[in-house]
Amino acid sequence: MSIDILAIAAHPDDVEQTCGGTLIKMAEKGYRTGVLDLTAGDMGTRGTPEQRIEEACQAAKIMLVSQRENLHFPDARLENTISVRMTLAVKIREIRPRVVILPYWEGRHPDHYRASEVGYEACFLAGLKKLDDYSEPHRPHKIIYSSIYANVMPSFVVDISAQFERRMTALLSYHSQYGTSSEGSGLFPQEQEIRERLGAVARFYGNLIGTKYGEPFVVKETIQVDDIAALGPRSL
Ligand SMILES: [Zn+2]
Repeated sequence: MSIDILAIAAHPDDVEQTCGGTLIKMAEKGYRTGVLDLTAGDMGTRGTPEQRIEEACQAAKIMLVSQRENLHFPDARLENTISVRMTLAVKIREIRPRVVILPYWEGRHPDHYRASEVGYEACFLAGLKKLDDYSEPHRPHKIIYSSIYANVMPSFVVDISAQFERRMTALLSYHSQYGTSSEGSGLFPQEQEIRERLGAVARFYGNLIGTKYGEPFVVKETIQVDDIAALGPRSL
């Protein structure tokens, strides 16, 4: 069964921090949403890949995601190779999303910008008729980039005021990452710190559109508007 909106991310717990509120909001509107995590976070200091995948399944339920899968590419050394692109392209042909959410194409973590690049190229490949003999071509209608980690002006912001708490609950279901543990405790902020940090970022983007909480996105194309009378937010 195809899904409407697919978020592709480098690590389990990325979408919970970047576009989880938007996924929840779209599911609440009746769209089928999905997540493809490219790595299982096996280089992480805390927890095992098995734990993180289990936590990711739990978080997916909280985010009302219909389908979540992990492609198990190598964590911290994700590469844009032909085999990675092809695996992802075939997945996109199977899932047939109308909208794909990718990480922004620049950032500090190499896995994040590589996930963006490999995701974009896989969306292109997925539309090629002759890519293989056994799957039907499918090119997503729209690619949007989650820009929360990039210090860039968003093309638009989604109001997630009503979804913020659910998104926070989803993120905190990664007990191996955000629970209290002595292992790596100097590195990992505790729950209160996480709440304050994510809350501040979501407040910043919400403020840009006059709402409490928001998630920012960038698109490469100019946004089309049919009804200028319905445009938000208010100017004055
Ligand atoms: Zn990440």
